[in-house]
Amino acid sequence: MGHTSRRKFLRQSSLGAAGYLLGSGLVNSSFAATAASRTPAILGGQPLFNAASWVKWPMWIQSEDEQTLIESIRSGVWSRAKLVDEFESKWAAAIGTKRCLTVVNGTNALITAINRLNIGAGDEVITTPYTFIASVQAILANNAMPVFADIDPATYQVDPAKIESKITKRTKAILVVHILGLPADMDRIMAIAAKHNLVVIEDACQAHLAVYDHKTVGSIGKAGCFSFQNSKNLPIGEGGAIVSNDDKYIDDCFAAHNLGYAYGTSTGAIAGDSFMRASKIRLTEYAAAIGLAQLKRLEAQTNTRHENAAYLSSMLKDVEGIKPIKLYDKVTRGAYHLYSFRYDPAGFKGMNRAKFMEALRKEGVPCSGGYKVMHTQEFMREAFSSRVYKSFYSQKELNFETYKQRNDCPKNAALCNDAVWMTQNILLGSRKDMEGIAEAIRSIQKNAGKI
Ligand SMILES: *Cc1c(COP(=O)(O)O)cnc(C)c1O
Repeated sequence: MGHTSRRKFLRQSSLGAAGYLLGSGLVNSSFAATAASRTPAILGGQPLFNAASWVKWPMWIQSEDEQTLIESIRSGVWSRAKLVDEFESKWAAAIGTKRCLTVVNGTNALITAINRLNIGAGDEVITTPYTFIASVQAILANNAMPVFADIDPATYQVDPAKIESKITKRTKAILVVHILGLPADMDRIMAIAAKHNLVVIEDACQAHLAVYDHKTVGSIGKAGCFSFQNSKNLPIGEGGAIVSNDDKYIDDCFAAHNLGYAYGTSTGAIAGDSFMRASKIRLTEYAAAIGLAQLKRLEAQTNTRHENAAYLSSMLKDVEGIKPIKLYDKVTRGAYHLYSFRYDPAGFKGMNRAKFMEALRKEGVPCSGGYKVMHTQEFMREAFSSRVYKSFYSQKELNFETYKQRNDCPKNAALCNDAVWMTQNILLGSRKDMEGIAEAIRSIQKNAGKI
């Protein structure tokens, strides 16, 4: 994209969903006419896309985004103050909760959220195996035991039917992850939690503004956690938030993020007494300024991703060997931090996933295979061999071989082997781009025997 057209694109993109219609790197826009005859790029044909031209992420619109940031830097007020307060009240309003507390990142949002619910050594937390490692590290950081319930293969989310059999006397919480930014089956999960008196924490670190049953995710459980890491749908670089409707709980989280000084104490002041052990994980003013700039675009971008994902899935669902991810009935908006489908080599003359992804990348469509099986990894064994785990759990519980067997999730293992992912910025392209992606896949399929 040239300088002028890029400026024009950026200007239009700030106007909302319609702005993305300019699209991205489609090289050959007449693909529809050439559908049957085109040679896939992996066999020497012209790629459909220029891989370098997809919407850049994070997005920064100088004319609109910089003023507050520069003012905050020039003011010298860099520790948390009014911009962090403003971001927190706007994020609480966006999610529909009474309160929001920002912290340094999503991982620490989860660690603090779990910790302030008094979940710790000796407790079990049920979660999904199909998630980013931070969900599990946050449980371990509290010296609690992660227990995995297998996934629903159609939606990739934790399968509520698999949760109940995992509940024991020690279970305290369900850490629900809205993975890929798509809401989990919250009605059933909340019902199970109520029946067994468990607390629900939502890991919404990929699910900014996703909507389930008229509720924005993060507002359904006791606490919702968000990440504003660079790749996320609201990028700050590093940043995170805990949201809740419980004032006392967020006040407590505030103290936990500020050396144990009570909510309302001004940062930097040594006034008052600290009332608990705590870390210090505060967001900075300039980070909040970046967040406020990104927040202005989030609603429109979320709608664009949702619409493009639905359009792409409608084209891919009839392609043999491609199974787009499904949403639960009550989901009216997915955040689509990632777009995914399951790939079956049988529809592509036995071509394996790695080869398929290579062919797709050659068309200028970036993609990856997503998560690996996690509970068998070394960090789990390392936790189990620590002094604190040895003092709070029995030898039997800490036997890593039997732990792995107990937590075996075959549906998750299959998904780790056959998922194909694209990142959210691809979904900020045009409808024509979505048609191009579908065409790239169809032409790879047509030529599968030769690849
Ligand atoms: C990104 C992410 C986190 C952690 O957030 P950070 O800001 O990177 O620390 C936690 N859970 C999930 C599902 C995530 O995607």
